Amino acid sequence: MPPLYRAPRGTRDLLPDDRPYWDRVENAARCISTRYGFQKIDTPTFENTGLFIRGVGEGTDIVEKEMYTFQDKGDNSITLRSEGTAPVMRAYLQNGMQGLPQPVKLFYLASIFRYDRPQAGRYREHKQFGVEAIGETDPLLDAEIITLASDFYKTLGLSRIYLQLNNIGCPKCRPIFLKKLIEYYQNHKDELCGDCKRRLVTNPLRLFDCKVESCQELIAQAPKITDSLCEECRTHFDTLQSALQAYKVPFTLNPTLVRGLDYYTKTVFEFWTEGIGAQNALGGGGRYDGLAESLGGRNAPGIGFGLGLDRVILTMQEQEIEVDQPPPPGAFLITLGDAAREYRPLLLRSLRDAGIRVANIYGKRSMKAQMRQANTSGTPFTLILGDRELEKGQIACRNMETGEQTEIRLDQVIPYLKPNT
Ligand SMILES: [Zn+2]
Ligand SMILES: [Zn+2]
Repeated sequence: MPPLYRAPRGTRDLLPDDRPYWDRVENAARCISTRYGFQKIDTPTFENTGLFIRGVGEGTDIVEKEMYTFQDKGDNSITLRSEGTAPVMRAYLQNGMQGLPQPVKLFYLASIFRYDRPQAGRYREHKQFGVEAIGETDPLLDAEIITLASDFYKTLGLSRIYLQLNNIGCPKCRPIFLKKLIEYYQNHKDELCGDCKRRLVTNPLRLFDCKVESCQELIAQAPKITDSLCEECRTHFDTLQSALQAYKVPFTLNPTLVRGLDYYTKTVFEFWTEGIGAQNALGGGGRYDGLAESLGGRNAPGIGFGLGLDRVILTMQEQEIEVDQPPPPGAFLITLGDAAREYRPLLLRSLRDAGIRVANIYGKRSMKAQMRQANTSGTPFTLILGDRELEKGQIACRNMETGEQTEIRLDQVIPYLKPNT
C-alpha cells in the first residue's frame, strides 16, 4: 500500500466545524472595512520574487529564510505571497490608482506563505486580514487605520488586547539614530549573542527583537529612537497619539518596537495578547512612505496592517467566545419502497427550488436506520414517503419536537414547510 498522505508540515485543513469561527471573523473584517470606506482587492497568490526582495528588503527574516520561492517552467523566479503590502502596492502602481482620489483604501483576506517554525496558531500557510491606505501622509489616517484594527478585535468580543505603538523615524532622522545605536552596541559587542552580532552588521534596528536575556538588558539601556526623531516625525507622532486618545483607543508607547520589515517609516504598531505561546503578537502594521519608490514607482506614502486570523480564532477560543452555529436543514426526507425512492429526486428538486434546505439518505436503508439519522440531524421536520402514501398522492410529516405526525397532500408539502423553515 502507498503511504497515507498528510498535509505538509505547518499546514492544516479548515474543517466544517471550524467554519462558524471563520465566517464570523471574515464577516467582521468585511463589515468593518466597508464601514471605514475600504474596498476589497485580491492580488495573485504568487508574485515575481523580486517584488518581495525589493519591497520587504534583503536582510529581513522573510527574504532570508521564509519565502516559498521556485523557478516555474518558463524559468521565472516565483514566490508565494509572503506578506500582503508589497503586492497591494504593486497593484496600486500597475493599475494607475495614483490617478484616483487619494488615499486609495483597500482591504484583503488572503493566505500568506512563510517557511517558519510551526507553533500554536502559526502556520506556513496562514490567513491574514489586511488593509492598506495609499497616497496620504496625514497622521489622522494612521489613527483611523489603528482604530479600525482595534474595532475589529472589539467586535469579535476579544479582551486583553494591548496596542503597542512606536515611531521609527524617517530617512532624515533614522540614519542619525542608527549611528548612535551602532556606536552603543560596538561598545558592548562582546556581550551580544551570535544572532545580534550578525544583526549589528546587517540590520541594526532588529537588535531590539532579540529574546535572549542578556541582550534584553542591553536593549533596555540602548538609545531610543523616539529621542532622535526629527521635527516632522515628532509632530506626526504627537498628532497620532492625540487622535488615538480622541478615538478612545488605549495604547502603550513601546520604543523598542521595530517590526521585521524594511519598508516601515514613522508609525509602527502591534496588537499583543497573552496566552498563545512565546509569540504574543496578533498582528500589526505601520507606515511605508518609501515603499512605492523602492518598487520603481512615483512617491506614494501609505499605511496599513496585517492581522493573522488563525491566531485571532485561537484567542477567541481561549477566551471562550461563542459563535453562531449554522442552522440544521429544514426537513429530512425518508423514503420506503422502490416507487417512493424513484419519486424522491422529483420531490427533492421541488423542495430545493422552493428554497427549503432538505437532507436525505442515499442507498437502501431500513426505516429504523433512516429514522435514527433523522433524529440526530436536528431538523425540525421529517418527511416520510412510502409507496402506499405515494399512491394516494400523500406524504407523512413528523414534527420532531412534538412527535406529532400528519398526512398531507404531496402538493401541499411546500406551503406546509415554508412558514416553519
Ligand atoms: Zn524623521
Ligand atoms: Zn541577542
